[in-house]
Amino acid sequence: MGLEHQLGDNILTTSLEWAVNWARSNSVWPMTFGLACCAIEMMPIVSPRYDLARFGSEVYRASPRQADLLIVAGRVSRKMAPFVKQVYEQMMSPKWVISMGACASCGGVFRNYAILQGVDKIIPVDVYVPGCPPNPYALMQGIFEIQKKIKGEKFTDHPYE
Ligand code: SF4
Repeated sequence: MGLEHQLGDNILTTSLEWAVNWARSNSVWPMTFGLACCAIEMMPIVSPRYDLARFGSEVYRASPRQADLLIVAGRVSRKMAPFVKQVYEQMMSPKWVISMGACASCGGVFRNYAILQGVDKIIPVDVYVPGCPPNPYALMQGIFEIQKKIKGEKFTDHPYE
């Protein structure tokens, strides 16, 4: 008699990679970090109205070492750019980045020398959320896209872990 027949429906087998990705994707902790007006739209996603806790991402961390999601919420001035990069580099791998709003993604209305024309010039971006500002639901959709991305990752995607 085969093992499968003996166990019936009483056991679930999976891969370690799937289980780790499932756990990671349901506990993405964002960094407490806001740069401009988009940050005002980012803050309410943890409020009861939007309730990001349903998806495991309500725990905003004050230290980059405890966060694995950087939401770049607002325009990045050239003066601020080195600090954004430093925060990203202090986060532990694996880590993900959302560029929230037109300004963070491409400079938005600020087409001038003082504003970085896209945060992807200094750090890698996983998901771009369009809008000026994107509303909290749009940001939540961005977090869902990050979750989808994590679920499809391989251990070899993060060679420095
Ligand atoms: S995209 Fe709009 S709301 Fe967001 S930082 Fe730029 S100007 Fe402000």
